[in-house]
Amino acid sequence: MAPKLSSFLKSKPFVRRVVWPLRRRWRALTPRAGILMYHRVATEAVDPWNLCVSPEHFEQQIELLARRRAAVDLGAFAGEDVIDRKGSKLAVTFDDAYRDNLEVALPILERHGVPATIFVISDALGRTREFWWDALCRAVLESGDLPTTLEITLGGHERSFVIDDDSAAVMAPGRWNADREEPRTGRERLYMDLWNAIVVLPPADQDAAVATILLWAGMPVAGPESRRPATREQIAALADHPLVRIGNHTRHHPSLPDHDAARQRDEIAGCQRALEDLAGGPIDRMSYPFGRNDAASRRIIAELGIPVACTSYPAAITRTTPRDQLTRLQVLDQDSESFARWLRDDHALLEGAA
Ligand SMILES: [Zn+2]
Repeated sequence: MAPKLSSFLKSKPFVRRVVWPLRRRWRALTPRAGILMYHRVATEAVDPWNLCVSPEHFEQQIELLARRRAAVDLGAFAGEDVIDRKGSKLAVTFDDAYRDNLEVALPILERHGVPATIFVISDALGRTREFWWDALCRAVLESGDLPTTLEITLGGHERSFVIDDDSAAVMAPGRWNADREEPRTGRERLYMDLWNAIVVLPPADQDAAVATILLWAGMPVAGPESRRPATREQIAALADHPLVRIGNHTRHHPSLPDHDAARQRDEIAGCQRALEDLAGGPIDRMSYPFGRNDAASRRIIAELGIPVACTSYPAAITRTTPRDQLTRLQVLDQDSESFARWLRDDHALLEGAA
């Protein structure tokens, strides 16, 4: 069995020419559609979560959607009309409402007439500091020499972290994808350990933690303006925009299942009220922070009457995908050709696109 399997897998041309097309055809028999997930339209040298798509590549991707008449509003995913055998319909979404969504992405969407949803963290609007994950990235992955030991209080507990190799004194060796690769150095391990420890904390503790870590790293408290979230005025100005809808992304972006139902309700319903005030109308869509949700989160969504809610689980939408757990495909920084190939080969979407 083992030799047979390995020799089979070794015959890559066979896999490429026969297995993949068969798999694609089989999947193409399942009617489907896609929801694309973006965060930032910007260029950064260090980007461990692949949050950035360059403005050039974003325009190529949006231009392809426009040319194929593929783009639909996310609200259409409340029904089934967008789901077809060719996977020909796609919705564009942005999480976290970084200011570049308004300043860089919006003019491109307007140029091509492509609709999009921006999921807003209501208490972060106008914030002059970075989000905690960007501050952590700056402190640990974008800093010069670091001390080898970090003593810090996280969630009321004294914790000690050690960089256990020579990477405290050298920058990270090139790009690293935290969601696809294991940490390669002590510095990257520290980043990941801190990320996992901070993500479950209440929001005030998260901000306090990264302030301590920035100080430890000898980095300035203020991050680059380009990484800030949008302002209230920028979001309010979208109220009557023909292409852009805003959606609920909670008040502070907590990992919802790590908090009790009362705090989850405050986060989700509080954001809903704030955004409805800003938009002057109902908000009919939600994206769970980090894609994480549980039965309590979904019950709150249902009570608020929000018809569609998105996770970050990477899969196309089929007729059986729950509307309160819509899967999404994170778009990488790639040109239109590889974007089209990825949609077609990996997800059987936009068949025939090139
Ligand atoms: Zn988010």
